Amino acid sequence: MYYFDNSATTQPNEEVLATFSKVAMTYFANPSSAHQLGDSARRLLDQARQQISQLLRCESHEVYFTSCGTESNNWVFQGVLDALSQRHPDRHQIIISAIEHPSIMNQIPQLEKRGYIVEICPVNEQGILDLEALQQLIGEKTVLLSTMAVNNEVGSIQPLAEIAACLTNLTHITWHVDGVQSVTTQFDLLLHPRIDLISLSSHKFHATRGTGLLIKKERIPAFPLLWGGGQEEALRSGTENLAGIVAMAKALRMSVEQHVQAKPQLATYKQQIIATLIEKHWQVFSSEHDSEHIICAALPPIPGEVLVHAFEAHAVYISTTSACASRKHQTHATLHAMGIPANVSNSAIRISMSHATTKNDVAQLCKVIESVSQQFNK
Ligand code: PLP
Repeated sequence: MYYFDNSATTQPNEEVLATFSKVAMTYFANPSSAHQLGDSARRLLDQARQQISQLLRCESHEVYFTSCGTESNNWVFQGVLDALSQRHPDRHQIIISAIEHPSIMNQIPQLEKRGYIVEICPVNEQGILDLEALQQLIGEKTVLLSTMAVNNEVGSIQPLAEIAACLTNLTHITWHVDGVQSVTTQFDLLLHPRIDLISLSSHKFHATRGTGLLIKKERIPAFPLLWGGGQEEALRSGTENLAGIVAMAKALRMSVEQHVQAKPQLATYKQQIIATLIEKHWQVFSSEHDSEHIICAALPPIPGEVLVHAFEAHAVYISTTSACASRKHQTHATLHAMGIPANVSNSAIRISMSHATTKNDVAQLCKVIESVSQQFNK
């Protein structure tokens, strides 16, 4: 089996899984319980929060645990946004980049129903935010800006330092960064001190599923997302998924340690894969400047889904441009925003790697690209 669908999800790392099992079995007590077992669980929870805050260079009370990236992104546009607009009642414009994940884009209709004015900031043909357009959109009425760090469909790296520069002296604008796809190669982007809110998801970096987080800087207000027993400073109630949280902290530390050395390795793999695709006349949408772990390409007029199954016949697992789009025959929003016509984007596939991808995996993938291309007479 050759797995190249790491942007959809990653296989849990064995050491991380061992930590998960140990915590689940040994520290099963509820961290809110008053007895000694509860105390031990609470200490472990605090420790995980502190480890994550050190990695992300924030305070531990700025780390909030959620169940996934989707939940973190929803919280930003619900509890956080409503608290911001209470603080700034005269500001109701939100700017969202055109290539955000559906967990943000699909909130737009209800944002508009709640009275917010949503502006979409375009991207250029490489899928990178148009900074001039952003400058034009930013104004007195802007309350929230949401951008990505790394795009999930084509891997384009967003110019976070330049976006931060556009926000100089505009402290009334809260800036959210969806960092879900950035841990594998671009973790350092998330450390920019101007970022107010960051969403992450454990299953994208070899931890177990069902855990995510929202970094919310102390200066940013929030209303609760879930009401209940008062966990997470009463902002996100629900008994904590301690095993998942501790496993996530460990996996994040391992990813951060590995990403410096994995980057050049992944860059070499990417060059090799792109060279094979180009030789076989594929249209490649990923440039050398994109994240090392994602490659998007098409072989029109063959539909992406047909290509995915053709690779699968050789035990190579890839996806159409996102896991969400794969089964629902959705259009490829990022390619559309980049100006790629539908007859080409319908043929798009995504090859995504991780620190666990090996030289052998890549050699096999390249062989299979050759046979699949041949199968479709290219
Ligand atoms: N944001 C981005 C950029 C993603 O790629 C994904 C998932 O693919 C999400 C958010 C949603 O994360 P989760 O699957 O943890 O809900």
